[in-house]
Amino acid sequence: MRPDNEVLIVGAGFGGIGAAIEFASLGIDDVAIVEREDDLGGTWHVNHYPGLAVDIASVTYSYSFEPNPFWSRLFAPGPELKRYAEHVAEKYDLTRRMEFGTSVTGARWDDESGLWTVSTADGATRTCRYLVTATGFLSQPSTPDFPGMDTFTGTVLHTAAWDDSVDLTGRRVAVIGTGATAVQLIPEAAEVAAELTVFQRTPIWVVPKIDFPIPRAVQRLFARIPATQRAVRLVNTSLLEMLMVFGVLHFRQARLGNKAGALLARAHLRAQVSDADLRRRLTPHYDLGCKRPTFSNSYFRAYTRPNVTLETDGIGRIEPDAVVTGDGRRIEIDTLVLATGFDLWDTNFPAFEIVGRDQLSLGAWWRESRFQAYQGITMPRYPNLLSLNSPYSYSGLSYFTTIEGQMRHIGRLFGELRRRGASTFEVTGEANDAFLDEVTDHLADSVFYLGNCAGSHSYYFNHQGEAALLRPNATLTTLRAMDTFPLDDYRFH
Ligand code: NAP
Repeated sequence: MRPDNEVLIVGAGFGGIGAAIEFASLGIDDVAIVEREDDLGGTWHVNHYPGLAVDIASVTYSYSFEPNPFWSRLFAPGPELKRYAEHVAEKYDLTRRMEFGTSVTGARWDDESGLWTVSTADGATRTCRYLVTATGFLSQPSTPDFPGMDTFTGTVLHTAAWDDSVDLTGRRVAVIGTGATAVQLIPEAAEVAAELTVFQRTPIWVVPKIDFPIPRAVQRLFARIPATQRAVRLVNTSLLEMLMVFGVLHFRQARLGNKAGALLARAHLRAQVSDADLRRRLTPHYDLGCKRPTFSNSYFRAYTRPNVTLETDGIGRIEPDAVVTGDGRRIEIDTLVLATGFDLWDTNFPAFEIVGRDQLSLGAWWRESRFQAYQGITMPRYPNLLSLNSPYSYSGLSYFTTIEGQMRHIGRLFGELRRRGASTFEVTGEANDAFLDEVTDHLADSVFYLGNCAGSHSYYFNHQGEAALLRPNATLTTLRAMDTFPLDDYRFH
């Protein structure tokens, strides 16, 4: 049977764009990309709250094969990332393959035809031979249901659904949450709001951000001699790698490296906040690396402004014009900002129902056994499915490492499919089990299991208490594995 498309990619963010580039390089032309939002760019299209910027330096947070010499700063502001995504999509002629406003609701494998049938929210179905889910990790906003929330009469904004027409100037604002998003937003809001109250449940580790505008002359140098930018990328990526490998993955062997990172963050806090009680409340009580730390030079300082208050007594309820704290104090506000992050484990694994061979639902299988995916990309009983946002897929600190590793995996897998004249691939149960054993073994050395992560409320952990998001390998190891995995780990038909 001829499918509607050979390849259907769900998601037009950097993951989906990278996969589409890989298929183009393999000479597979019949590729469609469907996207829930009304434009491409994923996270960088959806998020546009004040202060949005990358928190991994842009020389590293970009495709290695598509460097942008013209980043305005070392840590580029969000809109530049969106423009970069547009540029890459244009350059690789992907825009015409994209269909926006199409929300996928389910996918079902049919053994007889060897095709996936994909349903969309408009009630339509389409078929494809290969299904790629590139739906992101941080794509389903979490909106906690605080008591009385629906009675609030002021403005409510979630950071992932920001209303650009709202000006925070002169307002009495409450921000709920102190994750990486809030760390970027709070200093901006503090500058203009009449009063800003931040509701913190769990403090975040924050280290200094060495950020500066990239001078025009340097941008021209990067453009003229790309090797110079590659060298800067290599240095920055190596530093991040050290942080990840020694601070997080090899906590058993390099505990001191982790402690040094925490000391740096404490010194940073001390340099910006002189009030000892405020410092105490801003200091995390879990080990660095249990949840994603972030970089900022202005976050802690924002709390020293007279118009900013840190609340740590919890949220009792919301009233029409106030937040009532856990200990009963009423804080009058007119604007409620939910910097409450994303729902990973409940709604994202997978982002829509996927039914494979033997009518097995992927979400149910993951929950009934363990969250798992061979090399973080394929699962037994799900033929011809490449699930880019899978358990143990996130490798390194920059998401682009994950994407490029997966592109290599796709290249090797489809090269073999072609060589064998096959049209169907499926990872074997044995290969999948061996990979799960390997990551489980490696993780035993990590801060997640040896450190103190209790109370960190980290999205790295699933509800079963497993740190099943990050791949516990150095990025070079991951990239090599994606280039050399045994082809017999797959069955081809
Ligand atoms: P997040 O890290 O999940 O933070 C959500 C915050 O909301 C946490 O402080 C959380 O507190 C709080 N919260 C959630 N539910 C709550 C409740 N019911 N009551 C009180 N507080 C509640 O989300 P995020 O800040 O949006 O960041 C998500 C990820 O996006 C980051 O880790 C990072 O990977 C990425 N990010 C990247 C950039 C960048 O590169 N530019 C910028 C922003 C974000 P608890 O910690 O207690 O749960």
